[in-house]
Amino acid sequence: MHKHHSALGLATTLRPVQPVTLIRPHAARRAARFFVEKFPGRSMYAVKANPSPDLLQILWDSGITHYDVASIAEVRLVAKTLPAATLCFMHPVKAEEAIEEAYFQHGVRTFSLDSLDELEKIVRATREAQDLTLCVRLRVSSDLSKLSLASKFGCSATEAKALLQATRQAADSLGICFHVGSQAMSPDAYAQAMERVRLAIVEASVLVDVIDVGGGFPSLYPDMEPPALEHYFRTIHRAFEDLPISYSAELWCEPGRALCAEYSSLLVRVERRRGDELYINDGAYGALFDAAHLGWRFPVKLLREGASKAEETEYSFYGPTCDDLDHMAGPFVLPADVQAGDYIEIGMLGAYGSAMRTAFNGFGTEQVAMVDDEPMATLYSGALELASNVVRLDEVRRRLRR
Ligand SMILES: *Cc1c(COP(=O)(O)O)cnc(C)c1O
Repeated sequence: MHKHHSALGLATTLRPVQPVTLIRPHAARRAARFFVEKFPGRSMYAVKANPSPDLLQILWDSGITHYDVASIAEVRLVAKTLPAATLCFMHPVKAEEAIEEAYFQHGVRTFSLDSLDELEKIVRATREAQDLTLCVRLRVSSDLSKLSLASKFGCSATEAKALLQATRQAADSLGICFHVGSQAMSPDAYAQAMERVRLAIVEASVLVDVIDVGGGFPSLYPDMEPPALEHYFRTIHRAFEDLPISYSAELWCEPGRALCAEYSSLLVRVERRRGDELYINDGAYGALFDAAHLGWRFPVKLLREGASKAEETEYSFYGPTCDDLDHMAGPFVLPADVQAGDYIEIGMLGAYGSAMRTAFNGFGTEQVAMVDDEPMATLYSGALELASNVVRLDEVRRRLRR
């Protein structure tokens, strides 16, 4: 892979015809080390946010040992890329064959579920295995998050009691998990969810060994500036300590977005300007699904030799396919003199960017280049002057527990 000093240097010297994913390994490393050092428990990476093997390797090298996988293809991918990694199959509705393969061929021992049907399926597929960690997923509110995950999965408060009791019987280790929705804009989202967890445990009177607070940790986007992640960690830790659970209970989280949003951005070329609409060479069927379908605003930057002195103006984008839906409303703020042939960097696309790319209409190619300048925004600046010999918090806990 080609390595370049900066996005600007790459754009101006190579003038690529195809969109280029610009990856920043140092940004992913920094995010991973932040979670490994500061989250008061175990951080497992939610692979769906960005399943690139390069990224998986970077996270592994930075101390992320556990991976939240949701399909048999993700199980196989991580098992092949990182043979020593621990995989947790956290999709509450799985194919029985997928559970069987995960358990018997890839050593997966942790599964999530939100129904008695799924519990029976897991018990059957693993032939009544005695070494399972089973996490019951509770439905919690997504009200404080930008992207809801509240309707599809999770058992209700009334279903939780029977399901927790039945799962306790089948599990070697019983967990409770939830997901507050993606891009949670307040730590209160976790505090509220933990209250639901507390009620469910009291109701069911079961011994719980794992509390998994899921994903939802935010990144930085225009008009979405969350509090520092340390606040989230503190809120979660406090709520965890208050739960009526076993002394040796473990705390887990499953960050996707927060671990990889800063890892990559996208370099696109303007093919045409029509008023304040820019026709660019990637879009809704490429890495900009969220920009098109969720109206997500990503930061943008004009990459031109000699900065533009024009005032700023608000643009919308059209992607390259022939489809009207291939439209990103933005607004994206750029200098008023943008024209065809200009290059634009669209930032913070490491999470749910390349992962969503399709080949629709012949526009699926993806070039990748490495750059070592800073991402367009970071939640992790200055937070980490860590010597490589610093002992990890989870290591300390593990030693204490022995
Ligand atoms: C998508 C997902 C995650 C990651 O969510 P982010 O908002 O990207 O942190 C974690 N856990 C589960 C079960 C998920 O479905």
